[in-house]
Amino acid sequence: MITRFAPSPTGALHLGHAYSALTVWQVAKDLGGTALLRIEDTDSTRVRPEYEAGIYDDLAWLGLSWPKPVLRQSDHYDDYAGAISQLDHLGLIYPCSCTRRDIIAAGATPGADGMIYPGTCRHRAMADRDKTDGLRLNLRKALSLIDAPLSYREQGETVAVDPVTLCQNMGDPILQRKDTNDPAYHLACVYDDALQRVTHVVRGTDLRDQTPLHVVLQRLLGFPTPIYHHHSLILDDNGKRLAKIDKSKAIAKYRAEGLNPADIKRMIGLTA
Ligand code: GLU
Repeated sequence: MITRFAPSPTGALHLGHAYSALTVWQVAKDLGGTALLRIEDTDSTRVRPEYEAGIYDDLAWLGLSWPKPVLRQSDHYDDYAGAISQLDHLGLIYPCSCTRRDIIAAGATPGADGMIYPGTCRHRAMADRDKTDGLRLNLRKALSLIDAPLSYREQGETVAVDPVTLCQNMGDPILQRKDTNDPAYHLACVYDDALQRVTHVVRGTDLRDQTPLHVVLQRLLGFPTPIYHHHSLILDDNGKRLAKIDKSKAIAKYRAEGLNPADIKRMIGLTA
């Protein structure tokens, strides 16, 4: 089995990441498999080299090691472009110039992945594409090309994916970002899980609502669907999911204060 920890170097790793990474490595150990580290550095406006360096330092300090070289998503943008062309050949991609403000002005409501796109640019053809446009997946059309039923495995159960609910929760997701042309998380993640032959995706419950879309992308691109395990989240003092912006729970801060990895494990409810 192969699993992975896939942090984005857009801030310092915090206790939630420590919990996730330690869980990933524990699952690999329990199942006699391999834990990979993958750097999901596709948001070029937010990634910083010092955050990537911090990821390597913090994980090594926690006692974790991983096969090298580490896959860095920014190193293979051409592959994601190839996957988008594959979807374009199926007639599923359209260019979109809408800003967040346009989307809100069009009456969008919040969904599983930000605002649910109301379909303003859905009529546009790829031939009209401007180089600053983003690219979206026509999700309803995509679902019409996939044989039902759609499902994935989680903790020994089969989780059914309901296409109607998926469309309602997601709208047409962005697969390539406007202006930067960076690949979006969904596409890069699904592509690399297949490329790296990941059999078990272990990640937080905050990403559970994204999994049905990942299953759709896997079907469209001819990739296998891994087994999923969405683990619980470490919450802050107010019961909210930890955010990178809240530096008070950064692993590096505890390291600097002289705590050791066993202290961190105790703090997040994992025995040392
Ligand atoms: N890069 C994502 C994050 O830092 C994790 C993606 C995943 O595990 O699928 O939240």
